[in-house]
Amino acid sequence: MQFIDKIIAVTGAGRGIGQEIARAFAAEGARVVLISRSESSCGSAAEEINKTFPGSCTAYAVDVASHDAVQELAKKIGDEIGAVNVLVNNAGVTRDGLLMRMKEEDWDTVLDTNLKGAFNTVKAFMRPLMKGENSRIINIASVIGLIGNAGQANYSASKAGLIGFTKAVARELAGRAVTCNAIAPGFITTDMTDELPETVKQAVIGKIPLGSFGNTEDIAKTVLFLASPAARYITGQVIAVDGGMTM
Ligand code: NDP
Repeated sequence: MQFIDKIIAVTGAGRGIGQEIARAFAAEGARVVLISRSESSCGSAAEEINKTFPGSCTAYAVDVASHDAVQELAKKIGDEIGAVNVLVNNAGVTRDGLLMRMKEEDWDTVLDTNLKGAFNTVKAFMRPLMKGENSRIINIASVIGLIGNAGQANYSASKAGLIGFTKAVARELAGRAVTCNAIAPGFITTDMTDELPETVKQAVIGKIPLGSFGNTEDIAKTVLFLASPAARYITGQVIAVDGGMTM
């Protein structure tokens, strides 16, 4: 129970990787704030985790791309729950397509959610994080931000940007002992990857030395490690959790 009395905010926690991260913190005694776009999504995710860990989770709906809405939400969370100790920026979307056919709105939606969303939340939660002890910011990037991918120029740029942002924030907040790291998942079984055609999945698996997609627990366990006292001397890093895909 290494996170008792800690308040953890996880964006994109309505399902998939974010929900698993929330569950993992709840299992370690944390008070978890689940944030997602729709109320029904984060609400049912919180309800599901609360069945096993009563009173651990509270849900708040917000579009992380909205600067003002995120500011308001951070204030509300501060008043209703308390000062956030760990911020996990996990909300992310894809709008795939070859560059020739990519619409401006596909570019904007992905950059606004995956990159500006993290800027918005870090800005909004910065004060409580700086005041607290052992505060952590953990950004969920992607191996696609490291190696690029045809058909994902918007997503690749957003995740590469998130990695640069991680390093800048790590440098800015190091003096306050706030660490900021990124995790770059490879291919993880969630709704996001369920959309891929079977032929594409098989081609991807062929490029993964460990021979399979990862699962949401592989990412949640890495997040918990980065949030733990054991990781106090790690900042500005990108940890690939990808079955060896990008080594
Ligand atoms: P899912 O599509 O399963 O879930 C995404 C979550 O993000 C949902 O809860 C969704 O909210 C939320 N979200 C999306 N847009 C916004 C927004 N504008 N404001 C607030 N919340 C939002 O994704 P995964 O679990 O698969 O992925 C989670 C993260 O991990 C993403 O950043 C993704 O890029 C990254 N990643 C995933 C990989 C994979 O293989 N799955 C690989 C590498 C990285 P709602 O439920 O309300 O729609």
